[in-house]
Amino acid sequence: LVRALNVSKAFYGNEVLKGIDLDVREGEVVCLLGPSGSGKTTFLRCINQLETIDGGRIWIDGDLMGYDDRNGQLHRLHDKRIAAQRRDIGMVFQRFNLFPHMTALQNVMEGPVQVKGQGKGESRAAALELLERVGLQEHCAHFPAQLSGGQQQRVAIARALAMKPKLMLFDEPTSALDPELVGEVLAVMRELAQDGMTMIVVTHEMSFARQVADRVVFMDAGVVVESGPPAEVINRPQHERTRAFLSRLH
Ligand code: ATP
Repeated sequence: LVRALNVSKAFYGNEVLKGIDLDVREGEVVCLLGPSGSGKTTFLRCINQLETIDGGRIWIDGDLMGYDDRNGQLHRLHDKRIAAQRRDIGMVFQRFNLFPHMTALQNVMEGPVQVKGQGKGESRAAALELLERVGLQEHCAHFPAQLSGGQQQRVAIARALAMKPKLMLFDEPTSALDPELVGEVLAVMRELAQDGMTMIVVTHEMSFARQVADRVVFMDAGVVVESGPPAEVINRPQHERTRAFLSRLH
């Protein structure tokens, strides 16, 4: 479903991604691990074209993201085309990014109504179902400020799912939460994975990676250092940099 080939990206001469390759099959859950500054967030943002890329290519479901390939020369697509491509990708950030003046229900309905032009009745029914799925049916009328961080993050997940994405990207979705709220968000993500959603998850939650990921990818300084099944990469890392990173976590 996702193919990234030799993706590179620099900010003002600072090479943050140095030729990243990644393939993700439909239904696969890939956890991206790596130290702060290794380029994980930037890579996620390149996948959904919140960042332009300097080199390489990214396809989602066969569609070249962000660019038109004319005889090997890449030309940036119009913003409208990029927005249309992005619609198929759900993203959940570290910070919850909900609309503060809207209830949980309105937050979840907003995308389908505004972006997809779906009817309000249909969107409301779908949103209620999604809020139930993330365990928040009793909180639909609450505003973000009335919800805990874990509840807000579950609303953010429901909001992303409302667009019926082919792929979900999670950028450290639990790192801004109080420890006691982490579990409820990971539980929702685990269920999503079990339901067959294709997911790329940047996380420092090793137990989640171990239990839920089909594959973990360890990045450092803009390159993929190693990747493989969690039992191998986490329990028997082959590279010194992976070992050093994992030992710092414990
Ligand atoms: P973290 O776990 O801290 O989020 P990360 O692995 O996700 O780290 P990135 O956020 O992708 O790393 O950042 C990689 C590098 O790119 C960092 O050195 C960061 O300062 C730099 N960087 C990211 N975004 C920008 C930007 N918009 N402008 C300039 N530099 C940036």
